[in-house]
Amino acid sequence: MSDLNPCMSCGACCAYFRVSFYWAEAEDGGGSVPVHLTEPLTPFLRCMSGTNQRESRCAALEGSPGSATRCAIYENRPSPCREFAMSGEDGQVNEACNRARARYGLPPLYKDMLFHTSLEDATAELSRVQLPVN
Ligand code: SF4
Ligand code: SF4
Repeated sequence: MSDLNPCMSCGACCAYFRVSFYWAEAEDGGGSVPVHLTEPLTPFLRCMSGTNQRESRCAALEGSPGSATRCAIYENRPSPCREFAMSGEDGQVNEACNRARARYGLPPLYKDMLFHTSLEDATAELSRVQLPVN
C-alpha cells in the first residue's frame, strides 16, 4: 500500500459500526485493549465505548470522520479493527467499508486503484504508460 492510504483521511468505519469483541481482548482479560475505552455488552462480549449507540463513534477515534482521523490505540486495537479491510485491499471489494464511507460523503473504493499499489510500482507503471517526449 502506498503513503496515499485513504484510511488516513477517512475513519468512517470507526464512526459507523458497533465494534464488539470477546471480552478477554481487553486488558483485564489478559489482552491489550484499554478497559476504560470499552463497555460491557454481554457476559462474553465488550464493545468499544461509543459504538453501541445510534450515532456511533469509537471513543478511541481522534479527528473528524471523512477528513482526518487517527486511532489513539492503534497498536492495541481489538480484532474487528485489525481484521476490517479497506475496500480494494488485496483485490477485494469490502462493501461495509464503502457503506461507511458513503455515510460521510466519501466515494467508494474499488480494487486496482492507484493507492493499493506501492509508490515505487505506481511510479513505474505511470512511467511505462507515459508517451515518450519527442
Ligand atoms: S471505512 Fe474503509 S477507507 Fe475508511 S477508514 Fe475504514 S477501512 Fe479505511
Ligand atoms: S479502536 Fe481504533 S481502529 Fe478500532 S474503531 Fe476505535 S478508533 Fe477505529
